[in-house]
Amino acid sequence: MIKDSDLKKITTDVEGGLNQELKGVGTDTRQDLTNQLYVPLIGDHFNGHDFIEVAIAQGALAVFWQKDHPFPEHLTTKPVIYYVDDTLEALQQLAKVYRDKVDPKVIGITGSNGKTSTKDLVASVLKASFRTHVTKGNFNNHIGLPLTILNMPATTEILVLEMGMSAKGEIEVLSNLARPDIAVITNIGESHIEFLKTKMGISEAKLEILTGLTKGGVFVYDGDEPLLNKNYAVKTIRVGFEERHDYRIEAVVVTSDGTSFQLNHQTPFNIPLVGKHHAKNASYAVAIAHHLGVSDAAIQAGFDNMIKTGMRFEVTSKGPHQVINDAYNASPTSMCGLIDIVSDLETTKQKVLILGDMYELGEKTEDYHRMVGAYVTDKVDLLLTVGEAARHIKTNEQIKHHHFETRAALSTYLNQLSKPSLLAFKASRGMQLEKVIEQLTMND
Ligand code: ATP
Ligand code: MG
Repeated sequence: MIKDSDLKKITTDVEGGLNQELKGVGTDTRQDLTNQLYVPLIGDHFNGHDFIEVAIAQGALAVFWQKDHPFPEHLTTKPVIYYVDDTLEALQQLAKVYRDKVDPKVIGITGSNGKTSTKDLVASVLKASFRTHVTKGNFNNHIGLPLTILNMPATTEILVLEMGMSAKGEIEVLSNLARPDIAVITNIGESHIEFLKTKMGISEAKLEILTGLTKGGVFVYDGDEPLLNKNYAVKTIRVGFEERHDYRIEAVVVTSDGTSFQLNHQTPFNIPLVGKHHAKNASYAVAIAHHLGVSDAAIQAGFDNMIKTGMRFEVTSKGPHQVINDAYNASPTSMCGLIDIVSDLETTKQKVLILGDMYELGEKTEDYHRMVGAYVTDKVDLLLTVGEAARHIKTNEQIKHHHFETRAALSTYLNQLSKPSLLAFKASRGMQLEKVIEQLTMND
């Protein structure tokens, strides 16, 4: 845990004396801060310094305090105060100090899609063999990542970190902070293209993960992505569906319960996640586990026990229909991924795709929606679209297609659907397609 001596590496401008170890670090006064360090961050809407009294009431023992903010004089109980120039920077620096002190093997995972799924898969296969600490939920940015590091137990052997980004330079910051021993790029897609302009720009931004790779570190990546097909100065493990890869994925079978696959003609694996792309995410986990000496039997046991993060891809039934809810987020790549899953699935029901707008695609918005439309071809029986941008998702004449301006109109149509169907929903979060699912009136 964090001690006064760790904090003094960040600042020696201290008021009060800390004579016990801190239990953790928090930035949110709505959470329990008992015996923790409270770090007040300054955001667009709130300034954490304004909540110092709440933080103390929540049990904070020590605080970082930005020097340009006067510390309130009227407080009766005072925490130990560590004055810093910038609380966010101090949080990141402290994370660096603590990472080096605990010195676990660090696995950093970035990519346009599949980060959360991959970190869950990796943690599942390693946790029976090593004391493993992993990013909670989607805590993957310049604040979530240092907090994840600072809240790892002192005995941690493996630290699995999801690294997200929306602009160039961000992964470099996270990588230098986390200093991964194993760096993973799950794939390069179109997410955040608005900010990064080209797919080449996205691949360069993701490759920043190599800047902090430790000496002797390993780079595990999507071998099927041409933009990653280069010579690297570090040890690499290429994973993908093609023959030439170090881990070649074969014999993928997708059902509504999960996915099975084989690697390099060896033992088959089963995972409780649905979709061919998850075979790839799981293969990253197998490659890493092998690298760390974990057996195939232990890996499969890990997959069997995996805890999924607030699952994005939920399968439920509603009357005669089966519903796939993948409406948590959407990018062109992940939408095509869902189309592939629906296409691959073995079912007697009619396959219905319900697609809404994808956000943050900038001036290429129309093109990307058209591209998704072209990808649908005859992979499903019926295509339903909703929203302004989704108007451009058009397919060829072979399948039926209806477009709806509003969610209400879509709901009405779906509630009149009599043929038993597999209803697969996907759109950006803001489209709130989950409301359409809630409004399906047929009885379960
Ligand atoms: P976020 O940016 O929201 O943190 P993420 O990178 O953590 O996303 P996940 O939450 O694991 O990604 O998966 C999001 C969606 O991306 C999935 O529902 C699926 O449609 C798609 N996806 C997952 N893995 C892959 C992959 N390897 N290649 C392409 N698409 C994928
Ligand atoms: Mg994620």
